[in-house]
Amino acid sequence: MPKRSRTPPDWQDLQNRIIGLGEDSLKKSHYPELRERLKELERFHSLLDLASDILLVIDVESGRIVDWNVAARSALGHAVPPTLEAIDGNDIRAALGTAGRKNLLTSLRHADGHRFPVEIAISIETDIGQRRAIVVGRDISERLETERRLRLAATVFDNSLDGVMVVSPGGDIVAVNPAFSRITGFAAAEAVGLSVSALRSPRQNEEFIRAMWNSVRKKGFWRGELWTAKKTGEPLPLWLAVSTVRDETGATTEYVCAFSDITRIKESESRLEYLTHHDPLTQFPNRLMLVSALEQALLRSRHADRLVALLFIDIDRFKTINDTLGHQAGDQLLQAVAARISLAVRDTGLVAHMSGDEFAVMLENLDTADEAAKAARRILLAFADPFDLDGFEAFVSLSVGVSLAPLHGQSAAALMRNCDSAVHQAKEEGGNRFRVYTRDLTKTAFKNLQIETSLRRSIENGDMELYYQPQFRLEDGSLCGAEALVRWRHPKRGIIPPDVFIPRAEETGLIVPLGRRLLLDACHRAKSWLDKGLAVVPVAVNVSGVQILGSPIAETVAEALSLSGLPSRLLKLEITESFAMRGTTESLDRLQALRALGVELAVDDFGTGYASLAYLRELPVSIIKIDREFVRNVPAHRGDCAIIEAIVAMAHGLGLLVVAEGVETEEQKAFLKRVGCDVMQGYLSGKPVTAAAFENDVLVPARAALAQG
Ligand code: C2E
Ligand code: MG
Ligand code: MG
Repeated sequence: MPKRSRTPPDWQDLQNRIIGLGEDSLKKSHYPELRERLKELERFHSLLDLASDILLVIDVESGRIVDWNVAARSALGHAVPPTLEAIDGNDIRAALGTAGRKNLLTSLRHADGHRFPVEIAISIETDIGQRRAIVVGRDISERLETERRLRLAATVFDNSLDGVMVVSPGGDIVAVNPAFSRITGFAAAEAVGLSVSALRSPRQNEEFIRAMWNSVRKKGFWRGELWTAKKTGEPLPLWLAVSTVRDETGATTEYVCAFSDITRIKESESRLEYLTHHDPLTQFPNRLMLVSALEQALLRSRHADRLVALLFIDIDRFKTINDTLGHQAGDQLLQAVAARISLAVRDTGLVAHMSGDEFAVMLENLDTADEAAKAARRILLAFADPFDLDGFEAFVSLSVGVSLAPLHGQSAAALMRNCDSAVHQAKEEGGNRFRVYTRDLTKTAFKNLQIETSLRRSIENGDMELYYQPQFRLEDGSLCGAEALVRWRHPKRGIIPPDVFIPRAEETGLIVPLGRRLLLDACHRAKSWLDKGLAVVPVAVNVSGVQILGSPIAETVAEALSLSGLPSRLLKLEITESFAMRGTTESLDRLQALRALGVELAVDDFGTGYASLAYLRELPVSIIKIDREFVRNVPAHRGDCAIIEAIVAMAHGLGLLVVAEGVETEEQKAFLKRVGCDVMQGYLSGKPVTAAAFENDVLVPARAALAQG
């Protein structure tokens, strides 16, 4: 092994010589010492090249980069070592003046001009009189980006209005945000380390929770409503979204649960639920509740082979009693009547207060029709004794109509219709009696058949015409939309309203070609208004559930839009609440396909069916239209006022726009405006009129008003 010379060779000189010699001559070199040195140098270089960090050797005196590694070459993009100026290395140059080791954060410039952040360590060494700086740098663009993202995530986490908690796979709370503490009452320090079960509420059954976690494990996420409890134990309804975080191998590292407090919405929902199903005066179930109970009973009876009876009860000459004794005594009497009917049927049936002086009783599980008659007799008997109205004795008698399923009909609607004619019969015969419905169906069936034939012909002939009814913003009275409503111009019978023929068109499937045609008409009409430069507002078209499920509705709508050239934002579709609330994935898919076309969806006749909040949130709808049944009696009817207020609060909580239908009086309008309803539609501000009339009497003046500012 050759001895090392005492004076180490000049590195610079050595390098120059190597470069000067070239590869071939190097190999031939006979200087053992030089060879040894070269090997050392090679080793040194291959070590440097292995490093992923940028390495630069700089001559302090001249500021020249005298050596570098592969990583430096590719990071800087130069073929030969560049000058410090070329890479914007001013910070490095400045550091050369100081002695010892130094760390700094700076940025360097690539040959293509882009700059990148680097973290640099510089150490100055003196080697045989020459001062050299060894610069080790690391590109930290990625790290900075990750840090920025983390900071952003942390800001969102901290400032989100939604509660967020991070849960370990074992079910322990790992982290929570301030909103979590605000909503649940658990401070962050208390919550972290607790098991999620600390938030459980007895209101939520275990099975539901298990199913929820199963879904999370299987699909990676879960969304829905859930009852939990606050720290105080107070029940807390949440809208919760759980998602899974996984590592590179796919293993679950944690669950992120984001939630919002829906207490307020729940309150208005259950209030609404109660209000919509009970009479505000007697607190008895109302017509809506009776109908749904009846439907349930009919379903059950089908399997049980038993009868269901419906009794309609009407107070004889109630108007006279009311007028003589005054409204207050009238109200008192109604309450007493309800109580007495209820006593008479005891717990064998459901008693409902339908409206005014009309009551109903539903009896289930009957073996014979005679049992219904017995119940009717018992009720009539219960009214033999007078009522005591503040010392005044009032004798009250009743008229009762009875119909039975399946004898007189299989559906709630049919039973109710039949019950109605039976009670009329009892009234006509002088009251204080009951009548059981008798069949007289032939006439109605015949009428239906006639409608179907001429309906088919009329659709083909184009006898169907759309009328337009304007909608106005309650805030400032400006025009904001129009609803297209179909009219049948019957050659002989004149104009027939849709309520008469739409149900028939649905049953026969004729609604599909009819609806398609109307959609096209409405789109063409709206486009013509757009082309005329009129103040154009969206046109809402009613679509039946049969069209949505029984025909390729999204294609039909897309076709109508493209044939007419109408922008999708100028078309809205109204679907009935009963259809919207079906809750099948199929109907949801169809609605989403419609929404994807850019067409807004409205839930029509809202309040008449079962508005499940959880489901409404899932629907791609943005507008709800309060049914005119509720608008009719405001502001006089306190119950309806409360319903409307609750609907508005709930809808706004969900970010939905609220339209009130059937507004006929200034009082109704004032009330709606006061409770924050957004839009009104009704005879007060405009009846449905022909397209020509709508153009001349609504759109043209609206444009003029707009021009005046
Ligand atoms: P809807 O969609 O709820 O339409 C509102 C109904 O309220 C219309 O009845 C309208 O004329 C009426 N209306 C508007 N303002 C007032 C008011 O201030 N007071 C009163 N009393 N009524 C008012 P119309 O035109 O008879 O339509 C009845 C129903 O027929 C509609 O209810 C809708 O469900 C259906 N319908 C109408 N056109 C179509 C259609 O093109 N396709 C489908 N599938 N259904 C339609
Ligand atoms: Mg409508
Ligand atoms: Mg409606």
